[in-house]
Amino acid sequence: MAFQKGVALVLIIEEDIKTLLNDNRRKLIGAQVSMEDTTSDTVTIANSCFISSTVAREIIGKKEKDVIKAREKINEKGKNKRVNLKTDLVVNQFKEVDVISSKNVIGFIPGDEKPDEYIVVSAHYDHLGKKGDDIYNGADDNGSGTSSVLTLANAFSQADKDRVHFKRNIVFLLVTGEEKGLLGSEFYTHHPIIPLENTVADVNIDMVGRVDDKYQHNPNYIYVIGSDRISQKLHDMNEADNQKYSQLVLDYTYNDEADPNRYYYRSDHYNFAKNGIPSVFFFNGTHADYHRPTDTVDKINFEKMEKVDRHIFHLIWSLAMMDGNLK
Ligand SMILES: [Zn+2]
Repeated sequence: MAFQKGVALVLIIEEDIKTLLNDNRRKLIGAQVSMEDTTSDTVTIANSCFISSTVAREIIGKKEKDVIKAREKINEKGKNKRVNLKTDLVVNQFKEVDVISSKNVIGFIPGDEKPDEYIVVSAHYDHLGKKGDDIYNGADDNGSGTSSVLTLANAFSQADKDRVHFKRNIVFLLVTGEEKGLLGSEFYTHHPIIPLENTVADVNIDMVGRVDDKYQHNPNYIYVIGSDRISQKLHDMNEADNQKYSQLVLDYTYNDEADPNRYYYRSDHYNFAKNGIPSVFFFNGTHADYHRPTDTVDKINFEKMEKVDRHIFHLIWSLAMMDGNLK
């Protein structure tokens, strides 16, 4: 509204500006990352600036009483009441833009019976980087998913060498920028190397190397998210492979649309699902080291991770070999 009315700058008076700054440092003065091809230059909000009550008092000067009175009136009647102030305030705001580039990594195993159809296996390989001296290792998030995709690629390429004929192509996709808002997968779905209409399914792996509180006593589980949202057949295939081969506890807690964590919208499969592509997301749930420098490799439960990866292997195999379509 302020922008529409031509307001040049909104000064927001903050009683406790120190606390505000400490609690929101990154949001207020940190860099924001967005994808170049989706960032538009059109401004839709007025510029704003937080000021302390001390600065506000200096700007208001002798008119403090008038301002207080006007504020009371506004609160009473719910109507605007303006006080004009003369001030020498000068504000300079500069927007600094850096262009950073990053890469998605892709490879595929060719199929022969349905050469136009592709199964995508995805994981994000980025994490939070470094803050000060703290290194965010991201062993579970998402070293586990990244190495799972590489291991699966290795296994399927071995099968290919052993002259297994896959009906469909199997694509291995490692994406960047997930932690900044699913940017790598968003870019991929905006600029797909394989037409999205030929992309049969996305199997996404994000955090599969740890055990959460709920499963402390049974690591043989995995949360399954999204499998039934677009294709019941995908869901059924995942269940059938689990019964036949893996016998993991497939937990659908986070697939509930009412779940407040909204994980369905928070990893890279979502950019595929958004485009109508049946997608499934494998996830071990969070833990005390989630998004902390302490997410280190010594805490990875490799035995559990192997079981999950073997299960995902079977699902990808089934998808690559299935008769008919998912939808
Ligand atoms: Zn992640």
